[in-house]
Amino acid sequence: MAKINTVLGPIAPENLGLTLPHEHIIAAYPGWECDPLTRPYNQEKIVSACLKNLEPVKQFGVRAIIDATPVDLSRNVAVMKGVSEKLQINIVCATGRYTEAEGKWIYFQRRENVKIGNMQTEIYEGIMQEINYGIGQTGIKPGVIKVATGLNKIAPCEEATLKAAAQASRETGVPITTHTEDGTMGPEQADILISEGAAPEKITIGHMCGNASLDYHLDVLKRGVYIAFDRFGIEMKIKDQTRVATLIGLLEKGYANRILLSHDCMAAVYGRGGRMPMEEAIKFKNWSFTNIFTNILPALKNAGISDEQIKTMMVDNPRHFLSGD
Ligand SMILES: [Zn+2]
Repeated sequence: MAKINTVLGPIAPENLGLTLPHEHIIAAYPGWECDPLTRPYNQEKIVSACLKNLEPVKQFGVRAIIDATPVDLSRNVAVMKGVSEKLQINIVCATGRYTEAEGKWIYFQRRENVKIGNMQTEIYEGIMQEINYGIGQTGIKPGVIKVATGLNKIAPCEEATLKAAAQASRETGVPITTHTEDGTMGPEQADILISEGAAPEKITIGHMCGNASLDYHLDVLKRGVYIAFDRFGIEMKIKDQTRVATLIGLLEKGYANRILLSHDCMAAVYGRGGRMPMEEAIKFKNWSFTNIFTNILPALKNAGISDEQIKTMMVDNPRHFLSGD
């Protein structure tokens, strides 16, 4: 029985419980740290802000969260640990990297350009370092590997990361969770990961709910991987109503055992604060850590989806994805 690594240490798979498998405790796009007007960092205040946003999930029985923040989006496991201790919810953190366009790549690109290092090898070594010895000096070990690709293409840095992640997963059994841009490149991600040796049941192709085509979902599912409907509440390009309709279509075809549900929500962000104008904010009005419980599950139940199917998606699939059990 494989244990699941959380920021408070390993737990038995049966203790995982109801899980939100793609959220962020704190994250930000690179560059905020160079903004002289950024808010001063105060860990205690950040943890309190996170707790305020996350506290409501407890009433719905959430027992665990996978924080899918890659290293280069300012992953902070000390904040995750503080939140986990105070909230009494398990948090599984990630190793791995973000897209070529929005992550931090110049360091590895330069090393490869002047032939000091090979990017894929060096990313693999970094992933293995964190899996085997923990993140920095914290002793906290990641429970998932994050990989990401851009819109309609897989850039060289992304391909190197996919291959490095597959190799690390093959050797350690740590599963892989992906970012697709608007649900594109799902089959291609799965093919690279599987051909490089990752087991299909240790792969979750993320943000697939950005695509409303059943055929597209089935094309990814036939590879044996999990897919994630993990952006409920982000109604910028696609409405939750559309996501729900696609999800019901897949559930009716018997895929409850291959689908994960989450929000891709952030409890806190680094950098300047501020508010969006109303016309933008409206696209995120349902974006919270409880949207699935207050809006999505009732819609699914109305359509005849059973409690058993919901338990499969929210309890059994995250446990099996993380531990194999
Ligand atoms: Zn995310």
